[in-house]
Amino acid sequence: MSETIRVFAGDCTTTFEGSRSRTQRGRVVVVVKPDRTVLVHDADGYQPVSWLTRPDSLTVETDRSGFGLIARADEQVLRVRSHETSGWAEYPATEAGVPVGSHPQTGEPLVRVGGAVVGLDTETRYGLPAGATVIDETCDDCGLPKISAECGAVFELCVDRACESLDDAVRDRFDGEWTCPDCGSPLSIIRRGGRLLAGCSAYPDCETAFSIPAGVVVDDCDCGLPVFETARGRRCLDGTCAQFE
Ligand SMILES: [Zn+2]
Ligand SMILES: [Zn+2]
Ligand SMILES: [Zn+2]
Repeated sequence: MSETIRVFAGDCTTTFEGSRSRTQRGRVVVVVKPDRTVLVHDADGYQPVSWLTRPDSLTVETDRSGFGLIARADEQVLRVRSHETSGWAEYPATEAGVPVGSHPQTGEPLVRVGGAVVGLDTETRYGLPAGATVIDETCDDCGLPKISAECGAVFELCVDRACESLDDAVRDRFDGEWTCPDCGSPLSIIRRGGRLLAGCSAYPDCETAFSIPAGVVVDDCDCGLPVFETARGRRCLDGTCAQFE
């Protein structure tokens, strides 16, 4: 990971110009995040005494006499100038997520952050299908964590789609399973425009295609297409189906 957090410590004067203008002096620790967010912490409580979130610009100067920072966002300016310096340093930083195991090759910890499982030491990143959860099992082939994803049915797969692909699993299970409501041809499972679709096999003569929702098939709609149970309730595969009740 190329991102770092910079930390500066010492007896500093901090001035803030803007909606809450003020000047403070004390022995503080200044934290500068990879997105340039500046937090000035004193001895008290969890809250910074001064801060500027994601400023437009940040200038940091260090020399023998100490350090100085100037962060600007619109008409707000945060200045920190050291009088006596305790030190400064730069440390590698990542997003913090829920631990889900370790990488079988690199040994690095793996964490879930938003829609991905990422490694803490390398650029390792596995994007997850919508609504997927990481389960307490590892892949028999590669040793990575497994996920549970709903795409017509519940599939338990390796987190690495190069090892085990959700597309292949959905295709094995549902390819040709449903019928095109417009022309009667079987629907094929295809990936187009980054989305997994049930698309008419008579394409390009028939362009009917439906995005497969995250959920499991629980019923048949009057239109002949399957009904999915999703996090937002039941729906026809055709999200605009007039026959679905
Ligand atoms: Zn695997
Ligand atoms: Zn068709
Ligand atoms: Zn329907």
